[in-house]
Amino acid sequence: EANAAKPVGKTQQRNNKYANQTSTERVERIEKRDSTENAPPTRLSVGDYVKIRKLDETTGLIEEILPRKSELSRMDAGSTSKKLIQQTLLANLNQVVVVFATAQPEPHFGLLDRYLTICESAQLSPIICINKADLEHKSQIDDGAHLYSLLGYRVIFTSTQTEQGIDELRDLLKEHTTLFTGPSGVGKSSLVNAIEPGMAIRTGLVSDVTGKGKHTTTGSQLYPLSIGGWLADSAGIRALAAWNIPPEELAWCFVEFRPYLGECLYGDCIHIDEDGCAIRQALTDGIINEHRYRSYVRIYTGEER
Ligand code: GDP
Ligand code: ZN
Repeated sequence: EANAAKPVGKTQQRNNKYANQTSTERVERIEKRDSTENAPPTRLSVGDYVKIRKLDETTGLIEEILPRKSELSRMDAGSTSKKLIQQTLLANLNQVVVVFATAQPEPHFGLLDRYLTICESAQLSPIICINKADLEHKSQIDDGAHLYSLLGYRVIFTSTQTEQGIDELRDLLKEHTTLFTGPSGVGKSSLVNAIEPGMAIRTGLVSDVTGKGKHTTTGSQLYPLSIGGWLADSAGIRALAAWNIPPEELAWCFVEFRPYLGECLYGDCIHIDEDGCAIRQALTDGIINEHRYRSYVRIYTGEER
């Protein structure tokens, strides 16, 4: 507890007005599990690796569920009590392709930040895919792409029309378990089909009938790619962008904030209007990008959902 000796800041005095962010219906989250710390899971989930004892040519017995590297889970209120039950939607997901388009629709970088923070929180590596590279687009989009690559993110421009970037994207999926996400109309199903013909329908990217606006899906499925690796369907994970990150974790989910965390005057600084805030100083110094900082504030205060 490096922060324990620091004075209590304004956040407690004003009875942290954002503290009630984590209401029960907003505790959906994804978690990275350190496989060395965790006992083997007791309930089987999609994506689990198992040890099987072969009984004969066609049947086998699951003897052991191997520890998970990651777990996409959601807290659901039980039907009989108010107790929250953790439901694992998908195990061992390790990569998320966040798709936006250069135009039609234009990218919304604030939303991209939300996706990125969710990936960071779960320690899933995001790939930023800017599709429809064949369309005429504003220079701000190239500037945005540049900003995110400076932050260390993999950014690729793709086009299902000219096939730009498709081979590169396909290569990145090899031997990984990947989820495609992003706003509708950006070309997710077209991309998935360009990578592997026929795949979009199977992965639920096309049909929006099941689970839309509901949180009672039966879970996710994984589909094998012929190049090796798996694609996760989006049915159970459709509302990824709306998932909640615990407020105290949010600043850490902005990768460029990390060097300054722990440097603020107040140990419980939320980096919004406190004195002696190292993050705001880095913003003033032009080290932290203004748009990124604004995204932080919007997500923290719950303005952007
Ligand atoms: P999704 O909702 O994200 O799955 O998007 P779709 O794959 O359904 O694509 C939405 C629209 O964008 C369709 O009309 C596609 O033909 C079009 N589209 C997809 N990829 C590209 C691209 O690379 N360039 C252009 N110009 N249009 C594309
Ligand atoms: Zn601060």
